[in-house]
Amino acid sequence: MRTKIVAGNWKMNNNLDETKKLIKGLKKSIKKTSLGKTRVIVAPTFVNLYSAVKRAKKSKIEVVAQNMHQAKNGAFTGEISADMLLDIGIKTVILGHSERRTYFGETDEILKNKVDTALENNLEVIFCFGELLEDRKSDNHFKVVENQLKKALFHLNKKDLKNIILAYEPVWAIGTGETASPEQAQEMHAFIRSLLNEQYGEKTSNGVSILYGGSVKPTNAKEIFSKPDVDGGLIGGASLKVDDFTAIIKSI
Ligand code: PEP
Repeated sequence: MRTKIVAGNWKMNNNLDETKKLIKGLKKSIKKTSLGKTRVIVAPTFVNLYSAVKRAKKSKIEVVAQNMHQAKNGAFTGEISADMLLDIGIKTVILGHSERRTYFGETDEILKNKVDTALENNLEVIFCFGELLEDRKSDNHFKVVENQLKKALFHLNKKDLKNIILAYEPVWAIGTGETASPEQAQEMHAFIRSLLNEQYGEKTSNGVSILYGGSVKPTNAKEIFSKPDVDGGLIGGASLKVDDFTAIIKSI
């Protein structure tokens, strides 16, 4: 059985007080929910990470980072290292989000380095990838996704892969209100699992959690999560409201 995961990417939202309130609200709302082995993850902005880690202690909520630099330390103004994350109790980092790729020039090559640095430091990685609208319109979406995975991840061995969670996020569905249909999500997730199967074999590919991200809401979560190769979601906008995020968590 693969681990089910619902992760909230809070991006550049919420000041300290709002972060505290959101964690408090979530702790309360999921306390009454039977989650079993489902993981609940939130990714606050860097300045609020430490406070969030402390507040989420002794709860089901795992606090993760939205990004990390690939170097150990040094003259990289404004950046955060793996060591710094570990030092405040972070165990997982999101890498490759489309906003990092689009606005901050993160290439497959840079992401490969980041993945390697994270794994060398025993950080688990939520690796995001997905095609642009023009890729889908030109029927290139499978090729694009295959390239993203091959360039940044497929040098890893089976053991490393155990510390990777995949998040397929079609860029045209992120923050746009437009969601991939459950069938489109399943089709791509099954394709991704077939690539993993070819590269790593069935046992390993069956163990990798593949999340879907892109305008998941309380109204569509259940249907998307019901698909056999969708193991949960990476949620942006709807993870900023306790009620909406809780409803999505309950949909898994
Ligand atoms: C995201 O940014 O990872 C995301 C999926 O955002 P949204 O849910 O707002 O589309």
